[in-house]
Amino acid sequence: MSMFDLTGRVAIVTGGNGGIGLGIAQGLVAAGAAVVLAGRDAAKGARAARGLGARAAFVRADVTAEAEGAALVAAAEARFGRLDIVVNNAGTTVRKPPELYTLAEWHRVIDTNLTGAFVLCQAAHPAMRRAGGGKIINIASMNAIFGAPHNVPYAASKGGIAAMTRGLATAWAADNIQVNAILPGWIETEMTDGARALLPELHGQVLARTPAGRWGRPQDLAGLAVFLSAPASDFITGTAIPADGGYSVRA
Ligand code: NDP
Repeated sequence: MSMFDLTGRVAIVTGGNGGIGLGIAQGLVAAGAAVVLAGRDAAKGARAARGLGARAAFVRADVTAEAEGAALVAAAEARFGRLDIVVNNAGTTVRKPPELYTLAEWHRVIDTNLTGAFVLCQAAHPAMRRAGGGKIINIASMNAIFGAPHNVPYAASKGGIAAMTRGLATAWAADNIQVNAILPGWIETEMTDGARALLPELHGQVLARTPAGRWGRPQDLAGLAVFLSAPASDFITGTAIPADGGYSVRA
């Protein structure tokens, strides 16, 4: 068996109905896994699942609703028989100067990006123990290491994701569950369309700062996600790995 083979493994990808989540789901399916895509937009989810074929299903779930984490895990086990991999990718942002946020906006970002991920990790833990181990991949951001003036709650959530990843890695290593984070650079998605609309200079700044000389595409995250889901990464846990075309190492 190849150390990157995911045949027989079952994954949940939150926010898997579009953007980076769908790029990762495509990689997991290509490596042999069955994948449950989760999100709120059912029409977009059904389209995405159809595009992935018979080893994919969409389950409507809002990660900010506490009970939906357990329901999602139950749905994955009911549909595909087990749960091995969770990709906490669902995310949102509100961009404005920090002094202008309402507390409701702060909570919306933290509840989606950080609390939602924690709730699903908790719900997945017993299922992964039943499966003999598991892989959790949390999608953080360059904002976990750099500051930006229009994104403070988002940065707090992503820094929290990196810290939570380290803590869970230490807690669940004995259960053979590896927990790692991915730090994407600038990737072309609906989310960054919003940033480009707000900040017209952003596109050129990203191109100039990224040694690879281009924006990333959702599929650029697939290889790392497959690696972190596969036996190849069984001794790797608690890390936060950039996938950024060199953005984070440029002086
Ligand atoms: P998109 O806006 O394209 O996708 C976000 C996804 O999250 C959608 O599928 C959306 O589905 C889902 N989602 C949002 N809120 C919820 C919710 N409450 N419950 C369930 N699903 C939800 O953005 P990206 O693909 O760019 O972002 C994916 C992840 O990558 C995010 O965590 C983001 O922070 C992170 N990231 C993105 C970067 C980039 O440059 N694009 C850089 C660094 C990190 P639906 O609306 O159907 O619920």
